[in-house]
Amino acid sequence: MANRGEIALRVIRACHEERLTAVAVYSEADRLSPHVRAADAAVPIGPAPAADSYLNVDTLLRAAQATGCDAVHPGYGFLAERAAFARAVADAGLVFVGPPAEAIAAMGDKTEARRRMLAAGVPVVPGTTRPVADATEAAREAERVGYPVLLKASAGGGGKGMRLVRDPSDLATAFRAAGSEAVKAFGDGGVYVERYLERPRHIEIQILADALGRVVALGERECSVQRRHQKLIEEAPSVAVTPALRRRLSEAATAAASAVGYVGAGTIEFLLTPAGEFYFLEMNTRIQVEHPVTELVFGVDLVREQLRIAGGQPMRVHGGTLHPRGHAIECRITAEDPFNAFLPATGVLAYLRPPGGAGVRWDGGVEAGNEVTLHYDPLLGKLVVWAETRAAAIERMRCALSELVIVGLPTSQAFHLRVMDDPAFQRGEVDITYIDTVGTQLAAAAPPATHERAVAVAAAILAEERRMTAHPAAPGVDGGGESGWLHAARREGLRQ
Ligand code: ADP
Repeated sequence: MANRGEIALRVIRACHEERLTAVAVYSEADRLSPHVRAADAAVPIGPAPAADSYLNVDTLLRAAQATGCDAVHPGYGFLAERAAFARAVADAGLVFVGPPAEAIAAMGDKTEARRRMLAAGVPVVPGTTRPVADATEAAREAERVGYPVLLKASAGGGGKGMRLVRDPSDLATAFRAAGSEAVKAFGDGGVYVERYLERPRHIEIQILADALGRVVALGERECSVQRRHQKLIEEAPSVAVTPALRRRLSEAATAAASAVGYVGAGTIEFLLTPAGEFYFLEMNTRIQVEHPVTELVFGVDLVREQLRIAGGQPMRVHGGTLHPRGHAIECRITAEDPFNAFLPATGVLAYLRPPGGAGVRWDGGVEAGNEVTLHYDPLLGKLVVWAETRAAAIERMRCALSELVIVGLPTSQAFHLRVMDDPAFQRGEVDITYIDTVGTQLAAAAPPATHERAVAVAAAILAEERRMTAHPAAPGVDGGGESGWLHAARREGLRQ
């Protein structure tokens, strides 16, 4: 498992369910991380900075070979979408749990992906299919495509090298800015032109393809609630997708996967306009952070399927009969301060109590005592719920978010609660501008005294546990028959 955090734990659990032995790797910063203990063996791979550990191909391959591994699962992020890594794994005589390196390379270059998709009959956002040579050509193409336009780095990712241009007089400056940002980030300054779509939804289709040539689409995920291209909340299905649209999206997604000889789990991202037109955006050639919402509405374990497919076995999913059941929502709980421009937070996680109960899933990667650093992405865990309807899922998420206790550093938890309470979100009125518009208002209201409250709740839980150990029959605080946890929570206004 060439990764860390929640996805490492997720994959290790799937290995165990498939009766496979799992080997973890860890940097010095992750010595005490849950994924290290969950694995059957763990290999230290170097200092905290990712460049010296999780991104070090030679060290990772040596760890895999020294422990007798057959396969390498890259997770997401780090090396997951580097074609060179997939190739190096294969060259070392190991199986890469992911698509062929050629498929990663084809989808990793945005203009090549656009050409391939057009050839396969998949609608792409109007624009150029090659990088433009200079600002003059960019201006000519922008006129042809129609303003507003987006200038995008061919080698792009993570929103880098991307510039929105509404006024032709800004084009030359934006072109140079996008180009130099792209050189810095990717070592490739190629920039192309695409029409900027107003207020689309981000809708993506999960696909699975096995080595026997079968490709199956597992419905859509709605990922419009995103900030700076980082998704915060995902759901399945989308309120904007009818069965007929789902069929068309699924056909486009399977055509896209087939066009690059895809094998494994992958995601085709689309933008869906208010008028109901959809366009291919990009393909993520790996497991996604938000894969659990699909798992919950289809009753499929995508990571176990990845492992089976990598082993050359047929996938256990059959096409044609797949209908989402109920509704699933995921909130990414990150170490960021939503009331301070989502500033990343660091520190020791003093206390963590995940929620539980029917239809509640916590995919976490950290536990109390772990230190959260700036070396890695700020995801602490994913809170995922399932219920029969969307309204019930929102209600369940509200309760689960209230139950979650994290002490030691600010998190996105309280912001998610506000989104669940937002009437527009409840009506399903979301598009990719949601966080910048509604979200900004939600974050502007006075922040709750989350930290103090959480400390009080955690202190009450600890005191209660101590009391229960000393006097197991004692009823609770003040002899009132109510637990210290509830009492503290009520006092602090966390519960009604
Ligand atoms: P990256 O690979 O850098 O993340 P993407 O092409 O996936 O770039 O785009 C990232 C995000 O930018 C999308 O999720 C969407 O919110 C926005 N975006 C991209 N292309 C367009 C477009 N043509 N019109 C409007 N928004 C876009």
